[in-house]
Amino acid sequence: MDEEPERTKRWEGGYERTWEVLKEDESGSLKATVEDILFQSKRRRVVESHGQVRLGMMRHLYVVVDCSRSMEDQDLKPNRLAATLKLLEGFVDEYFDQNPISQVGVITTKNKRAEKLTDLAGNPKKHITALKKAVDSACVGEPSLYNALNLAVQTLKHMPGHTSREVLIILSSLTTCDPANIYDLIQTLKGLKVRVSVIGLSAEVRVCTVLTRETGGSYHVILDESHFKELLMLHVKPPPASSSSECSLIRMGFPQHAIASVSERDARPSFSMSHLDSGTGPGLTLGGYFCPQCHAKYSELPVECKVCGLTLVSAPHLARSFHHLFPMVPFLESSVEELQGSRFCEGCQGELRDKSAYVCPSCRGVFCVECDLFIHDSLHCCPCCIHSRAAL
Ligand SMILES: [Zn+2]
Ligand SMILES: [Zn+2]
Ligand SMILES: [Zn+2]
Repeated sequence: MDEEPERTKRWEGGYERTWEVLKEDESGSLKATVEDILFQSKRRRVVESHGQVRLGMMRHLYVVVDCSRSMEDQDLKPNRLAATLKLLEGFVDEYFDQNPISQVGVITTKNKRAEKLTDLAGNPKKHITALKKAVDSACVGEPSLYNALNLAVQTLKHMPGHTSREVLIILSSLTTCDPANIYDLIQTLKGLKVRVSVIGLSAEVRVCTVLTRETGGSYHVILDESHFKELLMLHVKPPPASSSSECSLIRMGFPQHAIASVSERDARPSFSMSHLDSGTGPGLTLGGYFCPQCHAKYSELPVECKVCGLTLVSAPHLARSFHHLFPMVPFLESSVEELQGSRFCEGCQGELRDKSAYVCPSCRGVFCVECDLFIHDSLHCCPCCIHSRAAL
């Protein structure tokens, strides 16, 4: 383990003249360069997300949350635990929005143990409720990477080969208490194609570097809360599927919401199958989604039919994940001076105040940087292209 190549740390590297990047403008202000740096970092996200790759659309992700004593640190407000759980709520929402046919589970680790907060499931509400509740839990002892990974792998190894197996660890502690050799477990994880990523809240830890490198995950340490959020959001996008993962066709059902009309003689309220494990929610209801294959009733989608195993999703939801397969082409950057015609953004109708504007290559619509980001991150289609198509 000792002879492996290690990238040089920042403090071991050469002398960096970071201040030389900053340049004063005529009035001696740094504002312009600082704005420019922020602007460039915004743009990078749009540009980075391209290239044709196979993506794992059905994802199984376990999020491991360190709940050890170090989570009580108050460098994130009000403390690391509360801040993490709050960000995770947003993450879960966004995850299911972008990956409607995927599942998430949450594992916590403290006191040298690991336990499941929620099982792998496709229902965001359940996870969010559990995360909200976990805020009150006490942060004690040391985390155990080994136990947490072992717990995750017990479930993940049964997931079919065409789906992704992922673990995302939010690690605050700089130590871990492991009952066995973690390097053996890393090899097991590698063999099972479980991709482990780590977001560190304190500093880089060597075992995580090895863990993420061996399993093909990513490893980042947060700088502040907004950086933390950005790093979490990186995990919302489906990861590239490994070339060795199987391809397979998946049967899916698209049930429509149906309400048995009261006038029908044999219409009776019934329980939905989702009651079997939750036991909460509305009791007897008339309406619901009925599995097209076996007519079992569900109150929410997406879900895997408990009777016949068919994956039930709503068609509009599935269509939303389509954009991952055919990402939008990036808009072309051009300086505002060179533009002929209007000086207004086609999206927000605001005046183009920045140096550069962004032009859609197919409809030549001009957008400001904010609209460009919104179009590529949220809309996934160019409003002007759609508008001109509708006008034909
Ligand atoms: Zn069914
Ligand atoms: Zn705009
Ligand atoms: Zn366009």
